[in-house]
Amino acid sequence: MTARLIDGKALALKVREGLVAESAAVLAKTGMKPGLATILVGDDPASHLYVKSKQKACDAAGIYIDDHKLPASTTQAELLALIQKENADPRIHGILVQLPLPKHIDSKVVLEAVSPDKDADGFHPYNFGRLVEGHPVFEACTPKGVIKMIESTGVSIEGKRAVVLGRSNIVGKPLALMLLQRNATVTICHSKTKDLPAVCREAELLLVAIGKAKFVTADMVRDGAVVIDVGTNKTPEGKLCGDVDFEPVSQKAGWISPVPGGVGPMTIAMLLDNTVESAKRMAGML
Ligand code: NAP
Repeated sequence: MTARLIDGKALALKVREGLVAESAAVLAKTGMKPGLATILVGDDPASHLYVKSKQKACDAAGIYIDDHKLPASTTQAELLALIQKENADPRIHGILVQLPLPKHIDSKVVLEAVSPDKDADGFHPYNFGRLVEGHPVFEACTPKGVIKMIESTGVSIEGKRAVVLGRSNIVGKPLALMLLQRNATVTICHSKTKDLPAVCREAELLLVAIGKAKFVTADMVRDGAVVIDVGTNKTPEGKLCGDVDFEPVSQKAGWISPVPGGVGPMTIAMLLDNTVESAKRMAGML
């Protein structure tokens, strides 16, 4: 079998194009665009690049940006004060605190300071708890993007055997819960899982987020499976690659997402989607 490609870049563009009209509808009803506050602390070049591409995408979708670039010496108290200000600002419907934060700042305290009503990244424990309950409000962007990518194939999630590799709070766990909510039968694997290849071979939906280059090989994949690769790693030559050994696995899978051009663009699109959805919720349009 040769897998069909799940083109995250094209799908993300479609989502973002759809948001233009939704942003315009919010503006027409409230006199305000949907607004996202972006907060970046320090000089990490990768973080600057991520925030810049998120802002560019927001701009194109008609989302107002309140941009804060703070020096690495910013104290936790100063950062918390800024978050409180954004929490209270009626022009702001989503708050993005770019991670990682400098070591002297406790990320957990900072993320919990973001109002759950403006938690566009979906990292606040309140929103995580809502997902556990089966009544999500804001869903974390990367797993939400993965769900949209599965849905784009036309393969139904309901009743499928889904295997999630990785149990982080930002990808693996919320993704497993989102699949469960859609009636998949879900197994979560991690570094202590015994006979991982055998578990993976049971998967009709194989979702991989472990951060190990080309870890998933063809012998771990069931014929015709939907394989989505969240991983972002560098090859020894410095090229971006996923957690899945793409070429051989694509001979076995039914559907496969590439890296780059897969989950990454969808994560950004879902941040925009969450911001617009928040603005609509606050405007009573949902
Ligand atoms: P993380 O917090 O480091 O978690 C990695 C998970 O993988 C852990 O649960 C770990 O198990 C598991 N794991 C590690 N080695 C394993 C092995 N040999 N066998 C089975 N499980 C193993 O990572 P993350 O934040 O979820 O990110 C995962 C990957 O996705 C990274 O490459 C990251 O860069 C990428 N990512 C991409 C996007 C995007 O938008 N494209 C967004 C987020 C993350 P234990 O819990 O037992 O340690």
